[in-house]
Amino acid sequence: MKITQHIAEAKDTLFSFELLPPLKGENIQRIHSTVEKLMEFNPSFVDVTYHREEYVYREVDGGLLEKRTVRKRPGTVGICAAIHHKYDIDTVPHIICGGFSKEETENALIDLDFVGVDNLLVLRGDPIRSEGRFKAEADGHAYAIDLLNQVISMNRGQYLDPDLRNTNSTDFCIGVAGYPEKHFEAPNMASDLRWLKRKVEDGAEYIITQMFFDNDAYFRFVEACREQGITIPIIPGIKPLATRNQLNVLPQNFYVNMPDELVRMVEDAKTPDDVREVGIEWCIKQAKELKARGVPSLHFYTMGRAEPTARIARAVF
Ligand code: FAD
Repeated sequence: MKITQHIAEAKDTLFSFELLPPLKGENIQRIHSTVEKLMEFNPSFVDVTYHREEYVYREVDGGLLEKRTVRKRPGTVGICAAIHHKYDIDTVPHIICGGFSKEETENALIDLDFVGVDNLLVLRGDPIRSEGRFKAEADGHAYAIDLLNQVISMNRGQYLDPDLRNTNSTDFCIGVAGYPEKHFEAPNMASDLRWLKRKVEDGAEYIITQMFFDNDAYFRFVEACREQGITIPIIPGIKPLATRNQLNVLPQNFYVNMPDELVRMVEDAKTPDDVREVGIEWCIKQAKELKARGVPSLHFYTMGRAEPTARIARAVF
């Protein structure tokens, strides 16, 4: 079932969450046990992130370094199919431009269509870790909007090869990312919103936001979107802060601002357990307010850990 249909049919705020594929070499059991721990909250959909390749350097004979390209967390398509079929939950694979040619994207979309996945979150993707700036593949997409348009074409039965006849039209419901505190490369919020609006005009049907720790950032963002004529559902993404280190790491990686009240509470916490408790209580407060304001779904960034999300969901739903 489409995410938009879940939202349209819901009488109250839904529960959904995001999972990371396991590191290469690990089995899928941890994914299953995370899903099982969160089943009691009746998740409407589960997102699965996509992780592009990274460069690693290994020392070889003579002290030389060999550069190798590895993907540390493969398995997005397989995990989506496994969860969908084992638990009958709709899954949303993240599909990215980075590292993909248009042909590879087309083949991945065919796989997803064949395994019964009909929701996507379409993204540009992060730059390669060691490269700082995003570089598109020579025959790939530079922006999420270009990838979105490839999916839209396939939904109309138009594949890359114009000679294909009697093609199967896919039927993907397409989501895109939104940034309550602005995408880090955007010169300003107005410009970021103009591009977001273009994605919506081209066919995006829902938005999932970057994490935020200050609900006002989300409410301002929704208001600004509505003023621009963006009327599709905007699903807030939230995450409990888990360690003191994250006070610095999350702003660095996700370009989010930490409210001073939260910073002070974490600084005053005596032990790692106390910090975790502060993070959970803060997230419960956020989630309760968001739910009271009627958001479409509370979407949790689990980072592979079910327990904090379960505690928050228990307090809120
Ligand atoms: P785009 O929409 O392409 O925007 C990128 C920047 O360019 C923005 O500043 C925008 O304002 C601007 N822009 C957009 N279109 C154009 C255009 N046509 N011309 C000029 N400028 C333009 N990354 C992963 O690698 N894997 C994941 O699984 C993943 N999951 C995510 C889930 C969520 C909910 C979110 C919010 C982010 C996720 N990311 C993931 C991170 C995301 O890939 C990065 O934030 C990336 O830098 C931008 O992606 P985007 O889809 O917003 O890009």
